[in-house]
Amino acid sequence: MTVNNLAQASQDVHSYSKPKEAVAKHLDLDITVDFEKKILSGTATYQIKNLTKTNQIIFDTRGLKIEKVLLDEDTKETTFKLGNDDKVLGQPMFVDIKPETKTVTIHYSTTPEAAALQWLSPQQTAGKKHPFLFTQSQAILARTWIPIQDSPGIRITYSASVKVPKELMAVMSAENPKEKNETGEYKFLMQKAIPSYLMALSVGDLVFRPIGEQTGIYAEPATIEAAAYEFAEMDKMLVAAEKLYGKYRWNRYDLLVLPPSFPFGGMENPRLTFVTPTVLAKDRSLTSLIAHELAHSWSGNLVTNATWEDFWLNEGFTVYFERRIMEELYGKDYADMLEVLGYQDLQHTLDDLGRNSEDTRLKLELDGRDPDEGLTDIAYEKGNAYLVHIERAVGRDKFDAFLNKYFQTFAFGTTTTDRFLDFLNSELIKGDEKLAEQINADAWIYSAGLPEEHYTPASSLFAKVEETSQAWQQGTPAAQLNTKDWSSHEWLHFIRLLPEQMSQQKMADLDKAFNFTNSGNSEILAAWFLHAIRNNYITADQAMEIFLTSVGRRKFLVPIYKALIATPEGKKKALAIYAKARPNYHAVSTVTLDEMLK
Ligand SMILES: [Zn+2]
Repeated sequence: MTVNNLAQASQDVHSYSKPKEAVAKHLDLDITVDFEKKILSGTATYQIKNLTKTNQIIFDTRGLKIEKVLLDEDTKETTFKLGNDDKVLGQPMFVDIKPETKTVTIHYSTTPEAAALQWLSPQQTAGKKHPFLFTQSQAILARTWIPIQDSPGIRITYSASVKVPKELMAVMSAENPKEKNETGEYKFLMQKAIPSYLMALSVGDLVFRPIGEQTGIYAEPATIEAAAYEFAEMDKMLVAAEKLYGKYRWNRYDLLVLPPSFPFGGMENPRLTFVTPTVLAKDRSLTSLIAHELAHSWSGNLVTNATWEDFWLNEGFTVYFERRIMEELYGKDYADMLEVLGYQDLQHTLDDLGRNSEDTRLKLELDGRDPDEGLTDIAYEKGNAYLVHIERAVGRDKFDAFLNKYFQTFAFGTTTTDRFLDFLNSELIKGDEKLAEQINADAWIYSAGLPEEHYTPASSLFAKVEETSQAWQQGTPAAQLNTKDWSSHEWLHFIRLLPEQMSQQKMADLDKAFNFTNSGNSEILAAWFLHAIRNNYITADQAMEIFLTSVGRRKFLVPIYKALIATPEGKKKALAIYAKARPNYHAVSTVTLDEMLK
């Protein structure tokens, strides 16, 4: 590659900013949260570095109302202009500065349509008394609530002052308050530099409950007990993670349990992971999600993909790390189940996208596209499969030492696929041609599909589930099957193994014995509903409608709606439910579903 190409390779196609010319280093955010108008308004003051003494600094914005911009101590406004509006990227904001400019203060407000923000009515919360607000900035939605250089390759520290209604509390991806105060004004500080997609804010009727010295949970009062029980082992997870890949660098690790409309399982906002309440299964069976978000404190938050085309460096590493944490805590048999379920997901995604699809390469090409579109399970599960492949080639001890060094070397910095490969060459391969061939980076990273040499995981616990499944399919009534002590993972495997076509009587036999339709476990419900839809098992209709109108997690919604629209009758059902449910979904989910159901 020529130098010029190299520069282009690390160029973020999803940001208008030019950080090599003028770059933001610190943000002071001062905003008021208005639940009536559904807007945030105030100022974003940046300390900048004008590297090339240019006359202009560029920020990303989407749907923001910019009132005025001031420089340094000037009371006179500077000029700025907004560029062409792109549906996905929004508008570049060109601010005229001087070569010696140190700070830029932008007075602005958001609009009720801001895609990162979800405003919930009291009815949409657990407590039903107070409204709730949360942000989701990843991948490129930070620009819909803050004018910002919105690229994962740019890091800033920040402080914030946030005014909220007095009966509510605000929390951010920063040092957080532990209780409400009288004034409704909250101050925040994040002293470690973070990328823009980790800017996060939530406002609601929140309480805090400590778990360990360094860990705790924020949730609505109605949810805090269940959450404290479910996540009681988060401290142990932190210890296990540190043992694997070095010290936790963010001081506290807390969770914020959101209302059910949160579109993701979790979002790894630093110091404060945002998490869906759909993992509150009452038996701690879905907590690998917390291990995942915690693992991001290293892979993603500490060492960050420079662009969304390198997303596998965030997610593949995190899935690998997540399973290592779970293995450390609950043993190999347990981790093997997660590995097999992940492998099934990967096969499913490969079938879905097509094994020759360019989107099945680890290094993605997302120019001209919404990054959210190209970010599939490939980054997660094929990324993980590749790291497992390398681990098996060099041995676990060597690979762990390598990962430790990787996290240390690139801490609070960014990484690209090329940088990772250079590091792999210099630290692990070290000129060993045979090993290089075995590791086979080109095939894994730049080719579509899954290389044949990949490791196929197996689980001894699942082997027993498979026997049980066989017995049922050969006629043993469900009530007579031995399912004692099965975890959610075994149940999920069992449900996934069920035949596509089942008679009403077979469906009823399972449901009567195992009560799938009324399961309190979201993973089991979501997998079961797919069979109910395919086999027109209308007994599950009501439970499915309740699920779809209360839960906003995209991972569950997409396959269920997809299964529904496969038949004309199901499509009618889907549209009727969607009309009711849509106001309850975050924009991240509706963007996908609108397209699917149009
Ligand atoms: Zn993740």
